[in-house]
Amino acid sequence: MDQPITLTPLLCLNCQAAIPAQIDERAWVCGQCGQGMALDQQRGLIPIQVYYSANVPVSEPGKPYWVTEGQVTLRRETYRSNSQSAREAEQFWGQPRRFFIPAYELPLDAMLSQAVKLLAQQPTLQAGPAARFEPVILAAEDIQPTAEFVVMAIEAARKDMLKNVDFQVKLGAPALWILP
Ligand SMILES: [Zn+2]
Repeated sequence: MDQPITLTPLLCLNCQAAIPAQIDERAWVCGQCGQGMALDQQRGLIPIQVYYSANVPVSEPGKPYWVTEGQVTLRRETYRSNSQSAREAEQFWGQPRRFFIPAYELPLDAMLSQAVKLLAQQPTLQAGPAARFEPVILAAEDIQPTAEFVVMAIEAARKDMLKNVDFQVKLGAPALWILP
């Protein structure tokens, strides 16, 4: 017999208030105490840091992004040597970079191009008061593969006939930022 799908109600880690979670959502802020939480595949509900950009307008919900510091080490191999691109790559990844992974619903290609754009821009983050935001549908465990895809996209876009790129992306603990 068909059973209706029942969801275990999520309770705030801090104050035990019920969290009205929708089925495809992956992170929340408690409406009662403001605690940030994410659903982790292995560990269940875990606390997370949530920050709100001072630039989120009151009129519209903000957009959630997973933001994390990343250290990228890479080795590129090209069909033709182009020291210019190699230098650019070396310089770009020579310092830790902040990754911004869109966590709200948008098509995959738009999500990736937004992540690539923000990684290049490295916008300054200034925290402000709490604001409404769109549902978080990208799980925290998808941050790493998405960040790796972003690195790949950036390297493939350099004008030097990339043959092979070998890289490692070490990410810090992610926080959720609500941006305009
Ligand atoms: Zn709470």
